[in-house]
Amino acid sequence: MSDLVRVWKEVDIADIAKSLLIIGLSTGDCSNCRELGIDYSSAKACPKCGAVFKYIASRSKEIKKIKNKRPDLIFIDLEDYKKVSGSIKAKDFFSA
Ligand SMILES: [Zn+2]
Repeated sequence: MSDLVRVWKEVDIADIAKSLLIIGLSTGDCSNCRELGIDYSSAKACPKCGAVFKYIASRSKEIKKIKNKRPDLIFIDLEDYKKVSGSIKAKDFFSA
């Protein structure tokens, strides 16, 4: 029997920001250039900016379905990503 659990790992947030595909209801968005409507089941790179996707995150809870379609990408939790990327932006803001 197998199921999904979240694994905590140290990652380079700047690298994720450049190579993350964010899945909405049925299509994906590029986190690098904000291009919308990307076919997440097949896109290896962003059709607009050319960013190569390495990570995937979802706004919905359909983790298993998306994971099965894209076993080549590292699935991260969108809320985790937003939390750390938001705290980095806040730090940059205060140190500027
Ligand atoms: Zn892009």
